[in-house]
Amino acid sequence: MVSDELLEILRCPHCVQEREGMLVLMKDTWLVCQEEADYCGRKYPILDDIPVMLIDEGDKWISVAEEDLPVPPPER
Ligand SMILES: [Zn+2]
Repeated sequence: MVSDELLEILRCPHCVQEREGMLVLMKDTWLVCQEEADYCGRKYPILDDIPVMLIDEGDKWISVAEEDLPVPPPER
């Protein structure tokens, strides 16, 4: 598990420069950006308890609906 403390400080790397970029944990293995200002929609997988906070990785999942995110996330 990723600790609550870590989850609290993580932000979407794409949004955090100008906005809050708050993330919400989904299905215990995805961090979904909640930034709606210009609908971000990036989703970051947690692999082996390590959140993959890369914009390129988040980009891959923009068009995937939250309910369609694979569990567990695919290995990179
Ligand atoms: Zn974002």
